[in-house]
Amino acid sequence: MTEQLHSLSQSSLQDYNDCPRRFELRYLQRLSYPAIETEPALENEKHQQEGEYFHRLVQQHLIGIPAEQIAKLANTENLQRWWENYITAKDLSGLTHRALREDLTGLYVETTLSAPLGKFRLVAKYDLIAIGKDQVTIYDWKTYRKRPKNEWLHIRWQTRVYRALLVQAGAHLNGNKPFIPEQIEMIYWFADFPAEPARFIYKADQYKRDWDALTKLADEIASASRFAFPKTDEVSKCSYCPYRSYCNRGIRAGDAADAELETEAEELFDINFEQIGEIAF
Ligand code: SF4
Repeated sequence: MTEQLHSLSQSSLQDYNDCPRRFELRYLQRLSYPAIETEPALENEKHQQEGEYFHRLVQQHLIGIPAEQIAKLANTENLQRWWENYITAKDLSGLTHRALREDLTGLYVETTLSAPLGKFRLVAKYDLIAIGKDQVTIYDWKTYRKRPKNEWLHIRWQTRVYRALLVQAGAHLNGNKPFIPEQIEMIYWFADFPAEPARFIYKADQYKRDWDALTKLADEIASASRFAFPKTDEVSKCSYCPYRSYCNRGIRAGDAADAELETEAEELFDINFEQIGEIAF
């Protein structure tokens, strides 16, 4: 059943983790989402497009286009606020102030890394990898409407995959010497919560645990039969899932009761970057 699937990503693994049925519909059957009909979905889609555009603005800035020029392109209320937050964020001053960048030896913007994982390739597209003298920082820009808890982020596959894959496949960014886990930090920077970034350091034992778990998951997916993708028992995960109508789990989007659920809903609609990476391999 999984013969057609060549790569895995943090979002496909997260889907498998959250609901094997969603993984099957999205990555094995490659079903496009049913038509978006409800107001919350349209609103989500607009927010997602602005989020993508914000990523483009930051990318342009990091490769050297002057901030004043980019500011003119921030032409919606959200974009203006996110851009202003980005350019003035104290936590990002080492990136946004050119003079302070001297501490950095390499900036890799929108970089894709990949490595073999069982019979698949594990692929991740990074918003930014910033390399300093002794350490390396992974930045991920988030335009979530709510700031998720660190505990929630900590166990997301994105946090685990991005750090592990940088150890596994990042040597060419470091003079052909693999990074050691203790050199790595991952920062989620929230455009609407600029003073509350989430930081995750890394350690050798975490790396080992992550890579072992990834290998086991990849083997499980590779050997799965067509009956191995059940619907999740956690019906709350269906509230915003675009495949609800395939599963008899309701037609209209539910109300997100907490920050984590709403954040998860935004991630569900945020498919474009990841899928570009997956199709390319
Ligand atoms: S609606 Fe629920 S059961 Fe169906 S794919 Fe989505 S999360 Fe899984």
